[in-house]
Amino acid sequence: MIDSLPPLREVIRTHGLAARRSLGQNFLLDLNLTARIARCAGDLEDCDVLEVGPGPGGLTRALLASGARHVLAVEKDARCLAALEQIAAAYPPGRLTIVQGDALEVDPMAYLRPPVRVVANLPYNMGTELLVRWLTPDQWPPFWDSLTLMFQREVAERIVARPGSKAYGRLAILAQWRSEARIVMRLPPEAFTPAPKVSSAVVHLTRLEAPRHAADPAILNRVVKAAFAQRRKMLRASLRGFTPEIEQKLREAGIAPTERAEEIDLERFCALARVIEAAGSA
Ligand code: SAM
Repeated sequence: MIDSLPPLREVIRTHGLAARRSLGQNFLLDLNLTARIARCAGDLEDCDVLEVGPGPGGLTRALLASGARHVLAVEKDARCLAALEQIAAAYPPGRLTIVQGDALEVDPMAYLRPPVRVVANLPYNMGTELLVRWLTPDQWPPFWDSLTLMFQREVAERIVARPGSKAYGRLAILAQWRSEARIVMRLPPEAFTPAPKVSSAVVHLTRLEAPRHAADPAILNRVVKAAFAQRRKMLRASLRGFTPEIEQKLREAGIAPTERAEEIDLERFCALARVIEAAGSA
């Protein structure tokens, strides 16, 4: 069925889809590449898939061709809808649902049933916001089983970073707290049209049934944000705003007040979030 669709360059010409920087549009036009990304998501046959920002539909085609039970494609740019409708028409009814809207506002579970995998070549300007949102719901497990997401390479490296490294920070902690995160593919700028200034990478995150260590998501998020906002400062200074007894609270969590955020592993950050929660000072 994928063969009956026109090449993506033609789709872009026909529908006047000149890329808009404000929408983070860097399209993937090589269907071999989009097929590889779809494979990184694992077996899609018995899954519903959420795709954010399908654009002209290169990745959408690959998700459908790899057998996804149902794909929900949420696209903000109305110019892309006709191209996406053309893909929907090439498959049996019910395989592809297209929703025009802002992915930050659409509730995917109004359209999907579990198990759900998320696969997306995200607009760079909203990738981290979506990822943090998907990692920090109050209830766990979340609506998704896995996330397979394209990021700028530097952001991808922050997601999988280990303590002590420059890239280590809030994204690493939130991602590794509740999921297993790996970089599964690296792409040069020329893989995209237009080519962005930076390289990209695909990160695959598989959710854990339960977080590695207990902590309240909102408190952990706040503590880590404050700790890394001034990453070279000692924690007793960067976290002073939480409580006047921060030195004591740090010690209770097994952290020396003179340590810096970069040196603290996930387990101790979670301990600190619990101590701060218990003190009622978050
Ligand atoms: N998936 C396509 C591909 O791989 O060729 C396009 C990827 S492009 C990097 C990002 C896409 O996200 C664009 O189609 C853009 O219009 C869309 N987009 C940008 N902001 C969005 C938002 N808030 N909600 C939904 N889609 C958005």
